[in-house]
Amino acid sequence: MGNDCGTGVAFTRDPSTGENVFFGEYLVNAQGEDVVAGIRTPEPIAKLENEMPVVYKQLVDVYLKLEKHYKDIQDIEFTIEKGVLYMLQTRSGKRTAKAAVKIAYDMFKEGLIDKETAVLRVEPAQVDQLLHPMIDTSIAYDIIAKGLPASPGAAVGKAVFTAEDAEDAAEKGESVILVRAETSPEDIGGMNAAKGILTATGGMTSHAAVVARGMGKCCVAGCGALRIDEKGKTFTVGELTIAEGEILTINGSTGEVIKGAASLIEPELSGEFAEILTWADEFRTLGVRANADTPGDSKIARDFGAEGIGLCRTEHMFFEGDRIDAVREMILADNEDGRRRALTKIKPYQKEDFLGLFEAMEGLPVTIRLLDPPLHEFIPHTDEDTQKVADASGLPFAQLKAKAAELHEFNPMLGHRGCRLGITYPEVYEMQVYAIVEAACELKKAGKDVKPEIMIPLIGHVKELSELEEMTREVAAEVMEDYGVQVDYLVGTMIELPRAALTADEVANNAEFFSFGTNDLTQTTLGLSRDDSGKFLPQYVEKVIYKEDPFVSIDETGVGQLVEMGVQKGRSTRPNLKTGICGEHGGDPDSIAFCQKAGLDYVSCSPFRVPVARLAAAHAAIKAK
Ligand code: PEP
Ligand code: MG
Repeated sequence: MGNDCGTGVAFTRDPSTGENVFFGEYLVNAQGEDVVAGIRTPEPIAKLENEMPVVYKQLVDVYLKLEKHYKDIQDIEFTIEKGVLYMLQTRSGKRTAKAAVKIAYDMFKEGLIDKETAVLRVEPAQVDQLLHPMIDTSIAYDIIAKGLPASPGAAVGKAVFTAEDAEDAAEKGESVILVRAETSPEDIGGMNAAKGILTATGGMTSHAAVVARGMGKCCVAGCGALRIDEKGKTFTVGELTIAEGEILTINGSTGEVIKGAASLIEPELSGEFAEILTWADEFRTLGVRANADTPGDSKIARDFGAEGIGLCRTEHMFFEGDRIDAVREMILADNEDGRRRALTKIKPYQKEDFLGLFEAMEGLPVTIRLLDPPLHEFIPHTDEDTQKVADASGLPFAQLKAKAAELHEFNPMLGHRGCRLGITYPEVYEMQVYAIVEAACELKKAGKDVKPEIMIPLIGHVKELSELEEMTREVAAEVMEDYGVQVDYLVGTMIELPRAALTADEVANNAEFFSFGTNDLTQTTLGLSRDDSGKFLPQYVEKVIYKEDPFVSIDETGVGQLVEMGVQKGRSTRPNLKTGICGEHGGDPDSIAFCQKAGLDYVSCSPFRVPVARLAAAHAAIKAK
């Protein structure tokens, strides 16, 4: 209706940075539709002060009043008709994670909201963004495929197809994306060297996903559209072929695979965010620990506020450096003597590992899990590697080949793994307990505070645990006597099989703590393979058969019952039983809320999710009040 009319939208603070500035756009002589449809380029709101000073002043008064009333950033729409201001709408404004932190922090400092509200204003699921590089979505990029968002963040690098190539390239200072059909523990070195990991198969708790999250590295898993030719060092997606050396970007927060280099934004752990996390700590009642296997990861976890290690997967240590040869010799030995010979070589390494962990986590509890994976994961895949074992052990090559073939299992996840290894090859667990307790005694003697917690995996029957607990206590007593010191240590178990949860009252007789291994507990309760279900689970989620991927967010009605039952039955036998969770769910905000309800003592998650878990635990505690 003329130049004394106009319309606009504004935010009471900047919704992308959180700065306390009036932020918005308007158009003179236009309707709201013209502003949002992008037909004309709107003017910045500050310009209105010159064009219509009276209206501008009114608008400022109104926005300040609205924000004070609602005590939150407002997203407002207004119109001006012949010099008269009309407010059309106000609502709480959407904001980035960065802005959420700044606004919550500032509003508390301004006295507008209390601390509890400030903590609740920052969404745990959103802050993950603040801890990883992100793709700058304002610049166009070319998505060629989509997989599962297995570990957040984004990475750019040249495609490589083997772990060795990743390590070689990283040594030359090149950034690479490791592309594999799936990863196995053998690929750890290459995964560590790569900027990001892309796999064609596997779900949210597949090896690639779990290890990448632990490393804080981005990962897109189970990207079914990829056809990988490992020998030819290429992959195809439909008609498109990507060869070794071509640049890729992967977005582990969305699952996108991008051809070429997308532009990345680096993360910041700002002072305000760190402070809000300390406010969160004032409210939470759940402890937060980290799943960490190395002193380096432990340090990151501690810096992020972890209160101990909830799970150290010792198998990851078996691949470090040259020791894999001795590990293979142990596995391929055809009798106990042979195994013991090889274990003697491994023990000094293990002790060093534990010394490093205990030192990095001094004064805090460190839960060390005895060996868990099926042995075939360690066996050599090439004749060259088998020959190396033959040379080191003096055993005939043919015998080693035959033994390796013998270890094949049709269902390795339900096979010879977990405590079953300890029952059948007690010398392996014995060696690990020696190494743990020796390391602890050595540090204790040096005046350090160590709190080892020895954890036995995949218990189904209390007798498995009682036998292994007895062995553990005997070894520990012997070592402590040798060293002439006493170390307070705990022996506990993982609850990862339905039978363990169903008989938790019996199991608790031999366990000082339970750690719910909800990756395996989900796998075994739902009868869904952690490694194969990625191919069809997305359809289940699309159809809302499961609201969320049950390997990501705990299936409360099913698996949740077993957790609740495990806690209740366990405490009925042992009232002071410590309980925690160390499956991937330990870093998922909804699952953390469930853990609060179930009465767990702590959650344990990958180091980079510790801040998310601290915040989510605070939300859960405040909401429970
Ligand atoms: C689990 O099963 O939840 C667990 C933590 O153990 P892993 O993932 O190593 O099997
Ligand atoms: Mg497990």
